[in-house]
Amino acid sequence: TVGAVAVDVEGNVACATSTGGILNKMEGRVGDTPCIGSGGYADNQVGAVSTTGHGEAIMKVTLARLILFHVEQGQSVEAASDLGLAFMKSRVHGLGGVVTVDPQGRWAARFSSLQMSWAAAQKDTLHYGLYTGEHSTQSI
Ligand code: ASP
Repeated sequence: TVGAVAVDVEGNVACATSTGGILNKMEGRVGDTPCIGSGGYADNQVGAVSTTGHGEAIMKVTLARLILFHVEQGQSVEAASDLGLAFMKSRVHGLGGVVTVDPQGRWAARFSSLQMSWAAAQKDTLHYGLYTGEHSTQSI
């Protein structure tokens, strides 16, 4: 899965998520990626999220929208991402990863899966990394 979130100079946010799905998926399976609120969500008043991971679990908790709910309640993008991932793990035993941005340009790349590659670009700068760590969220 490849996901992206973006914010422009006016604070407009966007998300995009693309996937080949999961290994050995059933024919005709519709995963989380095209489902609004699961594979991604964007709201100019709150922020944008793109998700990856166990699609069935992501759909059960509508992970992208759940994270933005926490942002709406005053959580940072980092804390909101962790809260959403922790809820998905405890409630439906699902692991995954997310990238989250708010209209002010604050962003987080967090995951509960074994690893997640990420990259970030801001005007002329590019940061990227591959983080590993068993079943824990990582700071960037
Ligand atoms: N979420 C995707 C799916 O379940 C898989 C992935 O993120 O790698 O279809």
